[in-house]
Amino acid sequence: MIGTRNLILGAGLAGLSAAASLPREETLVLEREGEVGGLCRSREVDGFTFDCTGHLLHLKDPGIRDLVHSLLPRCFASVERKSLIYSKGVYTGYPFQANTYGLPREVIRECVLGFVEALLRRGESEERPESNFREWVLSTFGDGIARHFLFPYNEKLYRVDLNEMECGWVSWSIPRPSLDEVVRGSLGMEVKGLGYNPQFLYPRRGGIDAIPRALQTRCGEIRLKAEVRSLDLLARRVRLESGEEIGYERLLSTLPLDGLLRMLNPLPEPALGKARGKLRAVRVVNINLGVDRPAVLPGHWVYFPEAQFPFYRVGSPTNYSSGVAPVGCSSLYVEVARRRDEPLDEETLVEEVLEALRRVEILRSGDRIVAREVLVLDPAYVVYDHFRQQALPSILRILERYGVISTGRFGAWEYGSMESALKQGRAAAERLDGGERVSAGGRG
Ligand SMILES: Cc1cc2nc3c(=O)[nH]c(=O)nc-3n(C[C@H](O)[C@H](O)[C@H](O)COP(=O)(O)OP(=O)(O)OC[C@H]3O[C@@H](n4cnc5c(N)ncnc54)[C@H](O)[C@@H]3O)c2cc1C
Repeated sequence: MIGTRNLILGAGLAGLSAAASLPREETLVLEREGEVGGLCRSREVDGFTFDCTGHLLHLKDPGIRDLVHSLLPRCFASVERKSLIYSKGVYTGYPFQANTYGLPREVIRECVLGFVEALLRRGESEERPESNFREWVLSTFGDGIARHFLFPYNEKLYRVDLNEMECGWVSWSIPRPSLDEVVRGSLGMEVKGLGYNPQFLYPRRGGIDAIPRALQTRCGEIRLKAEVRSLDLLARRVRLESGEEIGYERLLSTLPLDGLLRMLNPLPEPALGKARGKLRAVRVVNINLGVDRPAVLPGHWVYFPEAQFPFYRVGSPTNYSSGVAPVGCSSLYVEVARRRDEPLDEETLVEEVLEALRRVEILRSGDRIVAREVLVLDPAYVVYDHFRQQALPSILRILERYGVISTGRFGAWEYGSMESALKQGRAAAERLDGGERVSAGGRG
């Protein structure tokens, strides 16, 4: 059996960022796929570059900004977001709650009035935390915005009753406009710049996989097509699909936490067993299309809250990069969410999606689909339900007691970005190294 000091499971951004921060000769990365990058991989299909749906970079942390720009100097273009919502037969600006102009007048009235009523209710009542996401939406935005956008959109994405979700995760991802912004947005005075991503970065050429490919050059050994099948926490060794066993001193896992718990053999503590199968997530069916006509979508991406459309979001990479498709063509990514226990017939779904794209006139009768791929991202979005909130901290603590740091978007079982995965990998490497300060690329 071979052994290593630092064993990292998964070569997505979190695993790569950790590996780049640790001594090369003491670190081994195991990756199931034939290439690095995880959700940040891109593929070439018939002249189109497809990412896993849309992957747009937001850099806020100065350390991660320095890392990315040192890995890829002058690689990125900065783009001002143009995202829309399609509902009631019209396109409106993002976020819905501050751009209702253009919707039927009765809908605007319900949204604005509901917002004001919610404000008044909050002013009158004692400050008390909402107990679930549904309550939070109602008390923050009011009945109209809830009913016309936030309820149907989030139910379509998370596929659970919103009472079952807690609300701690929403503060950064759902913009909260002021009353002035809601009123201005209802009168057609466009409200711009709200939310966490008013600008984003994207490579001038090629796909988002530029980041993992560059980061890989700073890592030690990465074994591809090395799928981990079981983990013995007591003996400190993993077993691969091939049957090979690898020992370690310290383990950093970026694998989906629910899958990691299922791999434990033996199970050292019953609490870890109880959590198996209870951590919920949705998968996303990502249908990428190449179309032989330019500018088929009016914005960078569009949200579709209504049940008559199978997708919750459709985006067009050719609207934010000219380097991802043949001249004169458009690319589209379509995102459909499914619970992990829901049956999935990909061919039927693709037909439904194409029909809906024609119905909403994103595709026209003469358009030809010249490239296509279907990916199932599983897991894609963690469901922030009450079980997660109550059980997650202790699961992660128990794993740490056995020398395992579980991090990254799915290792930490959270709603994270590319930047947060890079940050998490770095932070985990620092902890593995016993608090000693390291920096990506700065060792080995
Ligand atoms: C639909 C969608 C859209 C997104 N859009 C954006 C965006 O626009 N901007 C943004 O900043 N972020 C976006 N993200 C988030 C971003 O993709 C992630 O936060 C980030 O890529 C996570 O990196 P990670 O390393 O934590 O996980 P992953 O990328 O999932 O890496 C985990 C790795 O582990 C490997 N692995 C799994 N099981 C095994 C096993 N048994 N053995 C060995 N290896 C294994 C996987 O193959 C994978 O390479 C999006 C995510 C989704 C799902």
